[in-house]
Amino acid sequence: MSTIFDCRCSEKVGGLFPELDVPAQGVERLIDAAHVRTQPLRLPDLSEPQVARHYTKLSKLNFGVDDGFYPLGSCTMKYNPKLNEAMAVLPGFSGLHPRSDVSRSQGALQLMFELTGFLRGIAGMADVSLQPVAGAHGELAGMFLFKKYFQVRGEHERKRILLPDTAHGTNPASAALAGFSVTEVASDETGRIDLAALDEALDDTVAGIMLTVPNTLGIFESDILQVTEKVHAAGGLCYFDGANLNSYMGKTRPGDMGADVFHFNLHKTMSTPHGGGGPGSGPIAVSDALVDYLPVPRVRLENEQYKLDWNCPHSIGSVHSFYGNFLVAVRAFAYILQLGDVGLREVSENAVLNANYLQQRLKKTYALPYDGLCKHEFVLSGKGLAEGISTLDIAKRLIDYGVHPPTIYFPLTVKEAIMIEPTETESKATLDRFAEIMEIVAREAKENPQLLHDAPVRASVRRLDQTQAAKNPVLKVPLDGE
Ligand SMILES: *Cc1c(COP(=O)(O)O)cnc(C)c1O
Repeated sequence: MSTIFDCRCSEKVGGLFPELDVPAQGVERLIDAAHVRTQPLRLPDLSEPQVARHYTKLSKLNFGVDDGFYPLGSCTMKYNPKLNEAMAVLPGFSGLHPRSDVSRSQGALQLMFELTGFLRGIAGMADVSLQPVAGAHGELAGMFLFKKYFQVRGEHERKRILLPDTAHGTNPASAALAGFSVTEVASDETGRIDLAALDEALDDTVAGIMLTVPNTLGIFESDILQVTEKVHAAGGLCYFDGANLNSYMGKTRPGDMGADVFHFNLHKTMSTPHGGGGPGSGPIAVSDALVDYLPVPRVRLENEQYKLDWNCPHSIGSVHSFYGNFLVAVRAFAYILQLGDVGLREVSENAVLNANYLQQRLKKTYALPYDGLCKHEFVLSGKGLAEGISTLDIAKRLIDYGVHPPTIYFPLTVKEAIMIEPTETESKATLDRFAEIMEIVAREAKENPQLLHDAPVRASVRRLDQTQAAKNPVLKVPLDGE
């Protein structure tokens, strides 16, 4: 039902509802008695200007990628082209009901079908499901596929998932949620998986390994083929966390490296608003052996008609309602079409170039525990910068200079970690300005450490007690004029 807003009315009335177009009496015959409202809905009385100002004020308290540099490692906070948004709001997509008859949703189905094809090509794998709605959700779906695979083969003793000590926290969580136990595999002194430690961990109770490639230190696993061969030889499967795909699109493919399941973070790599800014999409690509177990429904093309196939007897079932976050898929499709295969490859080349440029400059000022060529991100350490200064102080001071802090205290293998991912959409001028700010903060840390302890002083809130903020969040902002 549409609401007609009228700004001319008295201050406390923001909306006029259209005339009732159903009988006022007798609704109880149409609606289950339990669902009929007996008390008026407690909505605040607000004028339209009050509502507009409230939300505008809220938006100014936030920091987004459209405000400034956002080098949040692991999160790929690249610029989101506005063309993607224009495509996603086309009424044929945004107004489409998920229960529409397939005859009336052929365009949407075609988009899903073709996007699936693009993603299959980028991953170099047999098939793709668009249904999971986040990277972590793709991981969970992938772990269900592993489980199904071993159930069908009758290998019930395979209950362990191996995880490098650099793994993203969602990896062990997903494995555990799916009923596996987790065995950590140590990294070597170069930050890569230690092959001897891997050999040690492998046996016939191992279901597989979850790998982030390149890993969360931004380092490519140069022994990746040996790793996947060893796991396969031991009868296990290989899960690739694709959150870092931004560093190798069009250069190499997880399928060629031995992945059995690979998740995309469309909201990261294919540039759609995420974090506080929007929903995610975590499609999974699978190798031949797992195609039959993919979630339902599958989109198929038969006799020039797109259709939804629910009849997949070996499927693990649905992992989300309908088809996942369809409008994220629309944005990703638009992004891929804009760039083409050459453009996608350039995305990765420039993401890697930008990261190495910053790494080389910043290592003169900050400790770089794992030196050498990085991929799309790198990890500094705030340790030893200045007496009594922590990485948290550095991060908070960066806010005063108008940049979003990098990811801090992750990965866990680096003390006082500062994880920087500039992405390909930032100019050399922006990178230089950021490096300069990092250098200024390092100087301040030595000469006037109190500035860092007090930071931020130029943000909408001062330094928060993080424990209290999580335990007793204050989510209410006073309304304009209150
Ligand atoms: C972001 C990320 C994830 C989780 O993805 P979500 O979409 O946030 O659920 C998993 N692994 C790595 C390495 C990531 O960077």
